[in-house]
Parts: sequence; structure tokens; C-alpha cells
Amino acid sequence: MLNEQRLVDLFCRLVRIDSPSFGEREMCDFVKAYLEAIGLSAVEDGAAKALPGTAGNLLVKIPGTLALPPLLLCAHMDTVEPARGKRAVLHPDRRITSAGDTVLGADDLAGLAAILEAAASMLEDGAPHRPLELLITAAEEPYCAGAGAFDFGTLESKEAFVFDLDGDVGLAANRAPTILSFTAEIQGRAAHAGFSPESGVHAVRIASEVIAKMRLGRSEDEQTTVNVGTISGGTANNIVPERCVFTGEIRSFSDEAAEAELEKIRDLLARTASRMGGGAILHSKKHVKAYCTRPDSPAVQHFFRAAADAGLTPRLTSTFGGSDMNHLAQHGISGLVVANAMRNVHSVSENTSVDELMAAARLALSLMLLKE
Ligand SMILES: [Zn+2]
Repeated sequence: MLNEQRLVDLFCRLVRIDSPSFGEREMCDFVKAYLEAIGLSAVEDGAAKALPGTAGNLLVKIPGTLALPPLLLCAHMDTVEPARGKRAVLHPDRRITSAGDTVLGADDLAGLAAILEAAASMLEDGAPHRPLELLITAAEEPYCAGAGAFDFGTLESKEAFVFDLDGDVGLAANRAPTILSFTAEIQGRAAHAGFSPESGVHAVRIASEVIAKMRLGRSEDEQTTVNVGTISGGTANNIVPERCVFTGEIRSFSDEAAEAELEKIRDLLARTASRMGGGAILHSKKHVKAYCTRPDSPAVQHFFRAAADAGLTPRLTSTFGGSDMNHLAQHGISGLVVANAMRNVHSVSENTSVDELMAAARLALSLMLLKE
């Protein structure tokens, strides 16, 4: 049976461990030891070296006692900053917050705790279950870097449930975007701003014209967003700026639309720079690729059944955030990102509650115990 006290203790213990992205060594060791204590063993991959970070991804394989296809449950072990010296404060109304000066880390430690408690309870009860795989990734927050270094060939599951979504437990996202980031480097020519401004090529001016013409914000069809997030350039008030760099990102539910948007920016940048006598380079990186899991797919059917078994009201949504599910989908694994008892994530007002933690653990257990 799920044990509320054990779950809350585990969650509070996880919160006390510092696990910023690329610095999850202590968390990784704690989770390994916890798994061992409940009779499971985790294999850590070589991602620590590849990233580089201090911990790799953990994979646990639990042989099934039912002859059914395997299922994968996933959560990540890193948290966003401010993440050092976190402490979980349990309030009389059963809400759990941080002490106010750090994030709580319910993203994604609430997901991790729910999965670990469900596994502990399942093994303790000797409940019949299908083969299960638990994937606990490192460095998810920096655009799923840990999953990017994971060898998906080691997985047998064709269905996955990633516990990493804000919202009421029972909510699940079946659609997530492509996320591209870009850096525009503009080269102008320096000149004295008073003596000979005519001989300069104004790199900041080029950037301004480009950004003014870019379609920032959400597209009319609500499929795509474009943002310029940082800009820097110039060296002094009396110098025509020689260089300007701006960075941004594109998100879209359509991978083709994201690529097309990037090409538009590339073209606009090249034309504007050359018209004004300068040069420009656009660097870009695709962090995750869009996916959509069909509502009539087995993964969605399984989720609806498990949520109902857990006494939850299942509901599908889409998310404009990336998660490890994007990587799983790229490797032929169909699934959902499910809400896991976290709210106001990526802020010091992040919170959860005992009841929501229990609901997430019930969902994890119901998925593990699915009979068909
Ligand atoms: Zn997360």
C-alpha cells in the first residue's frame, strides 16, 4: 500500500539535496541507494562525461510478473536555480513550499518521489505487474541535455509516461513543440562617432532593423512563438559599434514551421546586413523536436484507465515546454507528459501538497499495475 508518511519524508529528503543541473552527483547516489534498499538496482550511463556533468542518467529494469509489454516511467533529478540549500516546509493545511529563498524542486522531485514510492509499495505488496523501466535523467532543465546523451537503444518499452508537468494530477500533455535557439552575430565596422561616423557600419542599427521586422510573440494560428531574449553590442558612446549579438528561440508544434521561421530570420538578417554594408552569421540549434501522441493511441488509453483507477479525472492538454518525452518520441516511444504535483515551477513560490503528492504516487502505481 502507498505510504503517505514515507512519501512525504522521501520528498522532503530529496528536496534537501542540492541537485542543480550538471551537479546531481549527491542526488544520483541517494536515489541509487534508495532503489537498492527497496530491492532494485539502477545502471548509471556515461552521460556525466558526455555532458559534462557530475551524474549520468539512471535506468532501472524491473522484470514483470505479468506477460505484458513493458512500460516506462520517467522523471528528472535536476532542479533549476536558485537550488542550493533547499528546504521543504510542511504547512498545517498540508501544502508544501520552500523556505522562500529557493525553488522547492517539486519540478521534478515530486515526480521522482511519486515513482519511487509507487515502486516501493508495489514490491512490498508483491503485486503482479508488467515489466517496467524507470528512467531518471540528469540535466533535463537545460533543454533535456541528459536525455540527449542517453542511449535509447537500451530501452525495451514502446510506451512512456514522463512525470514532469504543472497542473492538476490527472492532466497529461500529448503534444509538445520543437524548440530551436539561435544566435545572430552581426559584423559592422568601427569608426569614431564624432570624427567619421560615415565610415562606420553600425552593427547595433542592423540588429535593430532585423528585430523590428521579426514577427515576435505568438503566430496567428497559435502554433509558433518567436522571441529575442538577449542583445549586446558596442563598446563606447563615441564609437560606431562594430559588433552586435542577439539570441532568441523559436517554438512550434510544427517542426516544419519552426524550420521555416528560422530560415525567414536567416534571410532577413543576411539581406539587412548586406544592404547596410555589414555581415552576419546565424547559428542555430534544435534542442527538441515536436511530437503529437494521438488521443486514440494505446498510451493515451492506458493513461485514461490508470488515472481512473487512481480516482483521478484524466484530461489531455498540450504544452509549450519541452521534456524528456520529446526525446523518447524521437526514438519511437509513444507517450505523455503527466502532471505530477508541482505548481508555480521555476520560481521561489513553487509548491505542492501532501494530497497532490499522494495523487501522483497513485497514478504512478496504477500505471505500473495496469492489467492489459
Ligand atoms: Zn521539469
